[in-house]
Amino acid sequence: MYNCIICRYHEIATKGNNRNMFEKCLVDNIRHILKTIDPLCRVRRIRGRVWIEPGENRQTFNNETLNAIISRLPDVFGLENFSPAILLPVDMDVIRQTAVQLAPEVFKSTGKTMPAFRVRARRSNKRFPLTSNEIEIDLVTAIAEKLGDNAFKINLKNADITLGCEIRDEFSALYFDNYAAAGGLPVGSNPRVLTLLSGGIDSPVATWQIMKRGSPTDFITFHSSPYTPQETVDKVRGLVKVLNSFQRKGRLFIVNLAEFQKAVRDNCAERLRTILYRRAMFRIAEKIALKEDCKALVTGEALGQVASQTVANMDTINRAVDMLVLRPLVGADKLETIAIAEKIRTMKLSSVQVPDSCTVFAPSSPATSAPVDLALAEEAKIPGYDAILEKIINDIEIDA
Ligand code: ATP
Ligand code: MG
Repeated sequence: MYNCIICRYHEIATKGNNRNMFEKCLVDNIRHILKTIDPLCRVRRIRGRVWIEPGENRQTFNNETLNAIISRLPDVFGLENFSPAILLPVDMDVIRQTAVQLAPEVFKSTGKTMPAFRVRARRSNKRFPLTSNEIEIDLVTAIAEKLGDNAFKINLKNADITLGCEIRDEFSALYFDNYAAAGGLPVGSNPRVLTLLSGGIDSPVATWQIMKRGSPTDFITFHSSPYTPQETVDKVRGLVKVLNSFQRKGRLFIVNLAEFQKAVRDNCAERLRTILYRRAMFRIAEKIALKEDCKALVTGEALGQVASQTVANMDTINRAVDMLVLRPLVGADKLETIAIAEKIRTMKLSSVQVPDSCTVFAPSSPATSAPVDLALAEEAKIPGYDAILEKIINDIEIDA
């Protein structure tokens, strides 16, 4: 029965002169998703909303298309919520008749004998003869006349069924469902970044947070073959696949750090190994980011979580690069991060235990506060440091 989907946004609406760019980006992203579901669908921007319609003179969505759209739209950043709806003329008689027609089935679907019900009307068309409040009363009265007084109880705060009614200049719309979407800003409204993605819980969540602020991301992961198994990289590939459902496909740069780690093992103080690995990871990531036009690095670091994430060590690691490093989880509690990982479908995969690159030759007692001078002095002990990194970069494998 639905012939449109009303898509609402929130943060974009607060934008001034740039609002057009954000809206266009949102529409592009919705169109991109629809291409794989049903390319005939039509997407329009009309004053503060995006409307998806069946297109090509089709009267309504078929169920398969509608269900696919409902399952994909929650992943679109920039969208706050959306409702499958029925577009109608700006005519109270038609609106009332349609509401009365639809009501019995919707009420029945709750399985309750007396469901809690409310009507929410919005009127941007100020020439419409009824106010929002009068529209609400009109619709409730008409539905009560049709179904009888005992068919529902009114509850404005906590309703089983909310009938939405929007009156615009050119058309009106009725809807019953309101699905939550991801919020934030449309991916592509901020510059591309490069995420250091391990197989852990944190970095996939950090990726999602940054995409939610509008930056598309490519990924870089470090393994230590033959000291880490193939599963280490396969797990990251699985995570990239999930994360790419929130953006247009980002690439994965796969880097073997083993040669460098051997050099650290053979030449440097054991306690600094993890910090030296991390500084090399940052340097390699920065090189790739510059080459691929990514404007910042992203990590899943959270202050104080492990020895390499103390303020002192984060500072020492950070000083390996000039590029901005975004750490969206720096102040996050692990339980908050896990809750997001569950929501974004990465938790199950992240929980699979496989060896991580950082655990190769890991020190039994890592330094918790290594000044940058100490790290530089240890790095100076590695013969051909730059050449080792260069060779590693030349051997990078790319999943495009
Ligand atoms: P995560 O759960 O994301 O693995 P973590 O709490 O285990 O994070 P660390 O292992 O100390 O923390 O890593 C901190 C950050 O460094 C990660 O979030 C990630 O951004 C980056 N990182 C660590 N190991 C790798 C790796 N093997 N490949 C790419 N990035 C990595
Ligand atoms: Mg990790």
